[in-house]
Amino acid sequence: MNHCSKYIQNIADYIDGEIDETLCADIEKHLKECNNCRLMVDTLKQTVVLCRDGKKEKLPPELEEKLNNVLKARWQKKFGK
Ligand SMILES: [Zn+2]
Repeated sequence: MNHCSKYIQNIADYIDGEIDETLCADIEKHLKECNNCRLMVDTLKQTVVLCRDGKKEKLPPELEEKLNNVLKARWQKKFGK
């Protein structure tokens, strides 16, 4: 029913550009159809850009994990039923 959770797991990788081409196309297709996921990507992108601005490095694993948790929490708020 809810395909979003499947995409959410890959969205961080998608933003990093570290993702399979097929999966990438799959995600982008879903983003066109799903407002919530698009919003999620936008938010996450902004966060990543902000984090990287000062450092120009890959997100530390800690932060990445936090980000993932935030993502999941947000998601469960919207769809957590
Ligand atoms: Zn979605």
